[in-house]
Amino acid sequence: MKNMLSERIATSVLTREEVMQNMPVIMGGTCAVETKEQTLKMARTLVKVGVDTMRGQLWKPRSSINSFQGVGLEGIDWLRQAKEETGLRIATEIVDKDHIDPTKGVIDILWVGSRNMQNFELLKALRRDDRPVILKRGFAATIEEWLQSADYIGRERVILCERGIRTPVDSTRFTLDLNGALVAKFDKGMPVLVDPSHPAGRRDLVPNLAYAAIAAGLDGVIVETHEDPDNAKSDNAQQVLPEVFEEMVGKIRSIHHLMNS
Ligand code: PEP
Ligand code: MN
Repeated sequence: MKNMLSERIATSVLTREEVMQNMPVIMGGTCAVETKEQTLKMARTLVKVGVDTMRGQLWKPRSSINSFQGVGLEGIDWLRQAKEETGLRIATEIVDKDHIDPTKGVIDILWVGSRNMQNFELLKALRRDDRPVILKRGFAATIEEWLQSADYIGRERVILCERGIRTPVDSTRFTLDLNGALVAKFDKGMPVLVDPSHPAGRRDLVPNLAYAAIAAGLDGVIVETHEDPDNAKSDNAQQVLPEVFEEMVGKIRSIHHLMNS
C-alpha cells in the first residue's frame, strides 16, 4: 500500500514551518478510533485520496458520561499498524499529561481539544515534548486567550485550529469564526487550520465551510470522515463519506491554487 507520497511523508514530521510553506494541509479521519479494522481501512482510504495526515482520536472528551469515551491506549497499536502500512502521519488528541509518553514513536502530532485549551497543567506538560501541537480554540475563548495558551506550550511548536465558537446563532452547532482565525494568522503570525466539521454539526455544510476557510487564506483543514457515518460512535451527523472527502480534497487544492496564483 506504500506509494511515493507515503514514503515521502514517512520521513518527515509536520512542523509549524511546513504548515506555513506547504499549504494547504488536509487532514482527515474518523471522529474517533473505533476498531482496528476501521482504522486500517480509513488509513488506506486517506492514502488513496492523496491525504498525508490522519486524525486518529483515542480519547474522547464528551459532554455526557454516557457517550462513547474513546478506546484509549488500546488503539495505539492500531494506529501504529496504520502508520507502518501506509506511511501516514498520525495526529491524536491527548486529554491528560499521562498520554504524552505512551504516544511517542507513533503519534507525530499531538492536539489539545477545545475543552482543554485552558487546561494549563496539560499545556505546561506539553512544553517538555518536542512534537508539533495543534491547539484547538476553546469555544468561548478570545484570540488573546488562545495565544496565551499557545505560550504555555511554546508558540513556535503550535499550530492553531479554529473549530467554531458559541454565539447567539443556534441554527448550527457552533459559529465558524473565520475573522478570528484570520486575525490569528495575519496579525499574530500563527499557522491556522480550520475544523469545518464541529461548527457545522451536519455533514451537508462541511464542504462549503472548508472551501470558505481555504478561500479566506487559512492554512488547511481537519475534516471528520467515516465509512459509515450514521453508525459512528460519535458525531455521526457531521462526518462525511470518503467519496465526499475525496471531492473536497480536489476542490480545496483548486481553490488554494486559485488563491495563490
Ligand atoms: C474533535 O476534533 O473530535 C473534537 C472533539 O474537537 P473539539 O475539541 O474542537 O470539540
Ligand atoms: Mn468529533
